[in-house]
Amino acid sequence: MADLGFGLMRLPLRDPDDQTSIDMDTLKVMVDEFLDAGFDYFDTAYYYHANSSERAIREALVERHPRSSFRLATKMPMKLLESEEQQEAIFREQLSNCGVEYFDCYLLHNICRSYYPTAERLHTFDFLMRMREEGRIRRLGFSIHDDAEFLERVLDAHGDHTDFVQLQVNYLDWDNPDTQARRCCEVCESRGIPVIVMEPVKGGALAKVPPEVEAMFAEAAPGMSPASWAMRFVGGLGCVETVLSGMTDPDQMRDNIRTMRDFRPLDEREMEVLGKAIGIINASVAVPCTGCRYCVDDCPKAIAIPEYFSIYNDAVNAPSKGLPPQRFYYMNLVGRHGKASDCIGCGRCEASCPQHLPIREHLRDVADMFEKYL
Ligand code: SF4
Ligand code: SF4
Repeated sequence: MADLGFGLMRLPLRDPDDQTSIDMDTLKVMVDEFLDAGFDYFDTAYYYHANSSERAIREALVERHPRSSFRLATKMPMKLLESEEQQEAIFREQLSNCGVEYFDCYLLHNICRSYYPTAERLHTFDFLMRMREEGRIRRLGFSIHDDAEFLERVLDAHGDHTDFVQLQVNYLDWDNPDTQARRCCEVCESRGIPVIVMEPVKGGALAKVPPEVEAMFAEAAPGMSPASWAMRFVGGLGCVETVLSGMTDPDQMRDNIRTMRDFRPLDEREMEVLGKAIGIINASVAVPCTGCRYCVDDCPKAIAIPEYFSIYNDAVNAPSKGLPPQRFYYMNLVGRHGKASDCIGCGRCEASCPQHLPIREHLRDVADMFEKYL
């Protein structure tokens, strides 16, 4: 049975516009409940929450619970790396940020066609294998947002020393030709490499399905949330050892705990329902952004890309008879960020987007929808 992991990239915030304003009181409650429920895997990264997630988990978990009671994973920020010395300095900084002597799991973050050449040039796998030999890492893996052919290429070179692979898998992306979740899972399974799943609920999108789908789910499995369908889909895959969920509030966490503690994979009848749901959801999502925020730091115009896509999707999914109510959110956001039309088309955001979204094109749609009200 697959394990549940606590993803630390969407933590509760005191100020929704400040990624560093993590609500530590709520996070401590969540950490304690998660451990009490019998789960112990926590997944952070250098970049999460504008570089403050590692320190937050130190305060909420590491300084409050014995080291033997949890497993902690973090990741080498491939996008930042320029030299071999720097990767050693960052690794030491992460041990200090998290307040630990070793990491249970350690990943090269976002191995893809853009950053893999850096890993090869700087011998990042060799460095991390050395850290594993020295006992600073228990298990070594990488996260990847690329296609199955590229995954094969990385595993041909590094499969012998890879303990696990972290993949984006969810029922909506299962046969997506860009992310190729099914084929990537098959590659790992054929090599006997376990998979840790990220984005099982697609950044929360599969917790908020169209009303028609919600009704279908409720009829087929009364009392089960839409998010539980997403968790059960990935948890039932044979190659999956852990399902991460980026949990934002205690209720969401309790729902995940219920699903994974009394785990029951989707049966044949439920899979048929899911097949119909996928068609309806795909037709309803205008911009399939997961809200991961990988694109925002590099934008020279400080454009609030995921926020704009979220309100744009809301406006498209529930068109209003009069003016779109989301225009007020847009007006507030542009007071603090660049407008969608400020985009200069440099393309840096698209190079970082794991979903391979045509961000510049979608921003033109956002501007068309909202900027006439400014
Ligand atoms: S293409 Fe536009 S949105 Fe993307 S990083 Fe450049 S200015 Fe920002
Ligand atoms: S546009 Fe892409 S990189 Fe940016 S938040 Fe959405 S999915 Fe993530």
